Amino acid sequence: MITIDQFNFKGEKVLIRVDFNVPLDVDFNITDDSRITATLPTLNKILGDGGSVILMSHLGRPKTGPEDKYSLRHILSHLSELLGKNIKFATDCIGADAVELAAGLVGGDVLLLENLRFYKEEEKGDRDFAQKLASMGTFYVNDAFGTAHRAHASTAIIADFFPGKKAFGYVMAREVENANKVMKAPQRPLTAIVGGAKVSDKILIVENLLEVADHIIIGGGMAYTFFKAQGGEIGNSLCEDERLQTCREILEKAKAKGVAIHLPSDSVIADKFAADANTQNCNSNAIPSGWMGLDVGVSACDDFKNVLLNSKTILWNGPMGVFEMDAFSKGTKTVAEAVAESTQNGAFSLIGGGDSAAAVHKFGFDDKVSYVSTGGGALLEYFEGKTLPGIAAIVEG
Ligand code: AMP
Repeated sequence: MITIDQFNFKGEKVLIRVDFNVPLDVDFNITDDSRITATLPTLNKILGDGGSVILMSHLGRPKTGPEDKYSLRHILSHLSELLGKNIKFATDCIGADAVELAAGLVGGDVLLLENLRFYKEEEKGDRDFAQKLASMGTFYVNDAFGTAHRAHASTAIIADFFPGKKAFGYVMAREVENANKVMKAPQRPLTAIVGGAKVSDKILIVENLLEVADHIIIGGGMAYTFFKAQGGEIGNSLCEDERLQTCREILEKAKAKGVAIHLPSDSVIADKFAADANTQNCNSNAIPSGWMGLDVGVSACDDFKNVLLNSKTILWNGPMGVFEMDAFSKGTKTVAEAVAESTQNGAFSLIGGGDSAAAVHKFGFDDKVSYVSTGGGALLEYFEGKTLPGIAAIVEG
């Protein structure tokens, strides 16, 4: 892997694609700065070497050009505070102003460019736009894993202009290294836990995991389509009828490949989708009409725990139930505890963003798992077996 550790940046003007897409409140205060703080080691390494830095990011989803609420100006003072220095700001990411400010940078200087997505050319992966950005720097670093699955101008196309002078920043390198601990030569047994609401969102990942995993635990709303596919009664539980055949195919393929699929044998069922619903525990393939499965049941928790405590590598994506409501959070909490315990016993555990990361956080296990990815969509696509343009652009020369 080509990382910034393999270079000295003295005298270089380094264009860094970062993910500063942070949440802002109505007064434009940053409510969670973790995406900014995550990149500080990368910035400090380059600045410490005596390089200067040109930061490129998007913020939000501007539709029709510049909009004040999506201006990166709002993060300027906080970034300046975190880095302990004044930061220059270019109000147009490719304008004459930006070119002039970039030209005047000396070692240790930082220039932040305005929101790249004020130009539609960014998301279109426009080559001329990428070239204009590229012309301001002498080296390209990608440290934005969250957009690595997009072939945008600043995430992939720009890399063409820096043969031999491009590398991953630390955020990106860490994400790829950890994902590879699961996908490439994992310690076995490898168990993947897949949950969440919809089969359709997770089909590609499950299919790809059939190639590498020893065990796949399937929980959450998506499990009920699997039960119905096998002739079970699932009451009013979530179900995607158009995916029944896919579920059957997955089960057959798993059998042929010797991958053990673990579905929740029982469920916590409710008479309505509400925190104060009446609940009971019942077999997942015999749910009475009018009731719905909102969490995995007591026996399922024991089964899943047993598999996890015997695993050496664990990937977790998606909750086991409606964990946002206490009455249906036990399955997800049990899995979080088992992942933490297994990690303590020496397993490597990767939590795949989104709701699973939120669940691990809610139950206080952030520090008890090996790695919580910030990747979201990018990580999912990686586990689906896709080549991420942001990675390919650096790796492929
Ligand atoms: P996803 O975004 O596909 O990972 O789905 C996460 C959402 O699935 C969470 O908000 C959960 O509340 C929801 N969920 C999990 N299990 C169930 C279930 N059995 N029925 C309905 N929703 C569920």
